Amino acid sequence: MDYSLVIIGAGVVGLACAERFSRDFDSILLIEKNSRFGEETSSRNSEVIHAGIYYPNGSLKSQLCINGRNMLYEFCSNNDIPFSKTGKYIVAVNKDDSENLSNIYQNAMNNGVNDIRYIKLHELNKAEPNIRACEALFSPSTGIIDSHRLMYVLEAKSIANHCDFAYNHELISIEKINGGYNLTIKSDDEIFQISTELIINSAGLESDNIAKSAGIDIQKENLMISWCKGNYFKIGHKSKFGINHLIYPVPQKNYSGLGIHVTLDLSGNLRLGPNAEYMNSKVKNYSVDEDLKSSFFESASTYIKNIKLEDLSPDYSGIRPKLQKSGEPHRDWYISEESDKKLPGLINLIGIESPGLTSCLAIAEYCRKLI
Ligand SMILES: Cc1cc2nc3c(=O)[nH]c(=O)nc-3n(C[C@H](O)[C@H](O)[C@H](O)COP(=O)(O)OP(=O)(O)OC[C@H]3O[C@@H](n4cnc5c(N)ncnc54)[C@H](O)[C@@H]3O)c2cc1C
Repeated sequence: MDYSLVIIGAGVVGLACAERFSRDFDSILLIEKNSRFGEETSSRNSEVIHAGIYYPNGSLKSQLCINGRNMLYEFCSNNDIPFSKTGKYIVAVNKDDSENLSNIYQNAMNNGVNDIRYIKLHELNKAEPNIRACEALFSPSTGIIDSHRLMYVLEAKSIANHCDFAYNHELISIEKINGGYNLTIKSDDEIFQISTELIINSAGLESDNIAKSAGIDIQKENLMISWCKGNYFKIGHKSKFGINHLIYPVPQKNYSGLGIHVTLDLSGNLRLGPNAEYMNSKVKNYSVDEDLKSSFFESASTYIKNIKLEDLSPDYSGIRPKLQKSGEPHRDWYISEESDKKLPGLINLIGIESPGLTSCLAIAEYCRKLI
């Protein structure tokens, strides 16, 4: 075999797997179709380190988010990766929200997020005078991270552990052979094959198609991904609004995102978003439609007192790879070693939407235990 392991995709999850497996394996190759790491979803997100509040108890999202955020805070501290434990408020603005807020609190406690607490309104008014709420929760273990630096460090550590990286290389197909797999790869106009014992499919938006090319019936197994776009609008620096924390509204039931919230980056810039729009076609269109401005403003002005329509301007967008189709109930991530499908040594990671960034180190550790 040419390699013991081939990882497909240099997003934050593939890179975390490269770092983790390169500690134990000698010959690993990571292939990425773009010219650099993190050109897709991993650099088109909110860069929030989630606490693990919302996900169903016992789900992979919940377990790996909570483990992952602890691992991530430690990893950032040990490797000079900028981060800030800003904390976040979840704010209820009416009676319906208050009811949902209490469910969120209960869910967080069931998940073991024990530091979340109801805060008194005078405390909220002191910390965030420009936020309107009738009730609020505070999560001290939520934070923000420089995700680009995280990916840079993961790549550098993997290279130091002798993992090979092949950028501008696209996986075309996977064929099962005795003791492993043959991979057909395209680079410029050249098509060639390599062999490997193990594969990690962390191809993000393409991960269902990669599983299909290995011979999995993704329709029958209900593993087809829907793409769901999240747009952002910038609103200016935090000093303009006097906002110092992440501020989240209460998500609506069955909403595919967490509601139009206020995120903060490490330079203090505030943005609103992301919304959640299921896409009709799988075309990577990242433009932000100016027409969304009024709906973003409407959502944000329910809880930001001094915001004006003209404060908003289109920023960027990202696309979620969702197993949950529009209107369906929550679906967990699919992370599986496929021996039961007669594909031993193939690990598929499908539908790794949020909190995938927060959980990347824990996902890599989980995959390591599957081998
Ligand atoms: C709007 C939005 C907001 C989010 N906010 C947060 C947040 O605040 N906190 C959080 O924890 N998570 C958040 N997430 C989720 C997080 O960004 C993702 O879970 C994470 O980035 C997934 O990483 P990945 O490595 O699995 O996928 P990706 O980053 O998509 O990487 C997959 C890689 O595979 C490559 N690839 C695909 N097909 C092939 C092929 N055939 N050959 C070679 N390479 C291939 C792609 O080019 C890509 O680089 C958010 C996501 C979105 C969309």
